[in-house]
Amino acid sequence: MTDVDVAVVGSGPNGLAAAVTMARAGLRVEIHERAGDVGGGLRTASLFDSEVVHDLCAAVHPMAAASRFFREFGLTARGVDLLHPEISYAHPLDGRPAALAHRDLAATCAGLGADGARWRRLMAPLVEHSEGVVDFMLSAQRSLPGDLTAPALLAPRVLRHGGPFHGFATEEAAALLTGVAAHAVGRLPSLASGAIAVMLGHLGHGTGWPLPRGGSAAIARALTDDLAAHGGRIRTGSPVGDLRELKGARTVLLDVAPKGFLTLAGGRLPDRYARALARFRYGPGAAKADFLVSAPVPWRDPDVGRAGTVHLGGDRATILRQETRAARGVPTREPFVMLVDPAVTDPGRAVRGRRPVWAYAHVPNGDTRDPLPMIRAAIERHAPGFTDTVLAERAVTAAGFEAYNPNYVGGDILAGAVTLGQSLLRPVPRVDPYRTPLPGVYLCSASTPPGPGVHGMAGYWAARSALRREFGIRTAPDLGPAS
Ligand SMILES: Cc1cc2nc3c(=O)[nH]c(=O)nc-3n(C[C@H](O)[C@H](O)[C@H](O)COP(=O)(O)OP(=O)(O)OC[C@H]3O[C@@H](n4cnc5c(N)ncnc54)[C@H](O)[C@@H]3O)c2cc1C
Repeated sequence: MTDVDVAVVGSGPNGLAAAVTMARAGLRVEIHERAGDVGGGLRTASLFDSEVVHDLCAAVHPMAAASRFFREFGLTARGVDLLHPEISYAHPLDGRPAALAHRDLAATCAGLGADGARWRRLMAPLVEHSEGVVDFMLSAQRSLPGDLTAPALLAPRVLRHGGPFHGFATEEAAALLTGVAAHAVGRLPSLASGAIAVMLGHLGHGTGWPLPRGGSAAIARALTDDLAAHGGRIRTGSPVGDLRELKGARTVLLDVAPKGFLTLAGGRLPDRYARALARFRYGPGAAKADFLVSAPVPWRDPDVGRAGTVHLGGDRATILRQETRAARGVPTREPFVMLVDPAVTDPGRAVRGRRPVWAYAHVPNGDTRDPLPMIRAAIERHAPGFTDTVLAERAVTAAGFEAYNPNYVGGDILAGAVTLGQSLLRPVPRVDPYRTPLPGVYLCSASTPPGPGVHGMAGYWAARSALRREFGIRTAPDLGPAS
């Protein structure tokens, strides 16, 4: 039994954003988090060595740097140092120099040769109108914006890069953008992956793909500090098994996936809504490796060692094939791998010659295979000798991710397949996607619009909906740091 205005279940970035928004509106808020630590996808911890910390989930934050919630919240003003690599992301290729997305658009175009002008035409208008583009992409997706510049810029680009005819002349540019499209973790190409490619791709040349100094937990800390300063409470080690446990709260916000909600509701949902939730589709899984290494990754192309994020998937055709196989549930020994060597961007992450390396592979949902051999092989292909630098390592299988966090069903770290239908209508077709048929109960996780990533916007929009409907508060609360 709880005696607060608002109970929030789950302390991922969306749960925290929802809690902060409600507390800033003057309400008494309490978060229940099943894990022993707050943050959900924003946890940073030492794994092998007390001095070197690893990001257990998210590591790189293009969306936290750009989203409306975090712009208003003011991460930098609260001491979260967003560090920018000189090269946002790199894409090693066999037998030739890697393709590089510098933060500087002109440098990127200069490196892409015959495709330089095409890359500029694709990215420059989006960079110029980035705030509008981000606000449109991270909206609650139920109304058209007053200014149609963003959709007008996005529509032709998403259609082109979500389809088979991308129009690039070189393998470098085609692979570079396909590596970004692969962040959609699903069948490729697809319109949803095209949207992710242009959204994340242009941010690489704008607000950037930064890493918070010291790891992602810095973002969670800023949010929990603000919540505490406004009277909010957090109970960790507090799993909620049934909504009836929260009876004393006037409103409940759930940072959980549809599968978790069905359990929490325990048969009290109307049949039609429950059936729609049960039909919600989960995407392929992620299987992760955490390494403690004795040296920077020995990339064959040294320019890759200046990048914050590295995409290991080979040429475009290979990425399309491997991603589509994983989406169909077919295991492959050469999956797409994402890698971050955080000390490249944040040298303080390396302590006395030891540093973390974060990498994960896209695999079929529920995959129980140990990803370490596949991930090591993917790195060795472009960084021979990497294995010799490994001092310690651990794996989290796709199935293991669900045990770690029930929102990652079958290891789907995006909390729902990123298809066009589910991007527009997650979790179920409904005018207000956050409101549920249970009085006062709202969903606020990445399974609701605008979907996955650390942007806080699902939590923010769910909180705004609850403020309006349950408390009659229509004005957006001030989220900024105290002056
Ligand atoms: C390996 C990995 C790498 C990633 N990399 C990036 C990246 O670099 N950049 C990026 O932007 N995004 C990344 N993501 C995705 C990002 O972390 C998620 O999209 C984001 O964390 C979703 O936020 P959320 O608040 O919806 O849910 P989560 O962060 O998943 O948090 C949900 C929380 O709810 C808790 N919970 C669930 N059920 C209950 C219950 N019944 N009772 C109490 N507590 C409960 C869970 O323990 C968890 O703490 C990554 C994710 C993973 C796993």
